[in-house]
Amino acid sequence: MDSVYFRSEIVKYANRLYEKQLISASGGNISVRLDNNEMLITPSGVDKGNLDFEQICLADYEGNISNPTESSNLKLSMESQMHIAIYKARSDVNTIIHSHPLFASAYSATNEKISTNLTGEIFAIVGKPAYVEYARMGSLTLAELVGNSAAESNVLILANHGVIAFGKDLFEAYNRSEIIEYAAHLTFITKLIGNINCLDNEKLNAITDFLKNY
Ligand SMILES: [Zn+2]
Repeated sequence: MDSVYFRSEIVKYANRLYEKQLISASGGNISVRLDNNEMLITPSGVDKGNLDFEQICLADYEGNISNPTESSNLKLSMESQMHIAIYKARSDVNTIIHSHPLFASAYSATNEKISTNLTGEIFAIVGKPAYVEYARMGSLTLAELVGNSAAESNVLILANHGVIAFGKDLFEAYNRSEIIEYAAHLTFITKLIGNINCLDNEKLNAITDFLKNY
């Protein structure tokens, strides 16, 4: 796949994230790993609900924009270092989506955890998210904390901030972003209803075994 294909995929998924209210107009970011230590990443401060194909930045792993003809007026996403830290930590990851979904972000600002054992689908798609302690947005400390947690899960909850989900392709990263927010909704709603009946370890292990051979 060439970078033209991935640019159009990033625009498509940015629209989808915005329409699904997983990101705001200026919030969140998406990247795709390319060969030769480069990535495509959404720019800073641009309307993600109305992103243009040519606004997607091409950057190296030092965070330099390496294609000035296409991206000279644009600044890289402020969370570029966070994306780079994940790509360096996880050779199996090709795409990263950072989002600020309402319910998952609400949980990130509490000491409560999002339950991912309420339905089999949630457990199968998200597994167990990892929780990353607070650091300032756009900081190298946040990038370092995220890089250190990237091996633990494909979904990270950033304290007082939001979510990062990653995967082998954009669909997988998007699906995980959507399902962790769905899990946050279910966690909230089941607590209101009460008498919660989570899937126990035996049932979760049976799902894991089933998916291994599926
Ligand atoms: Zn953010």
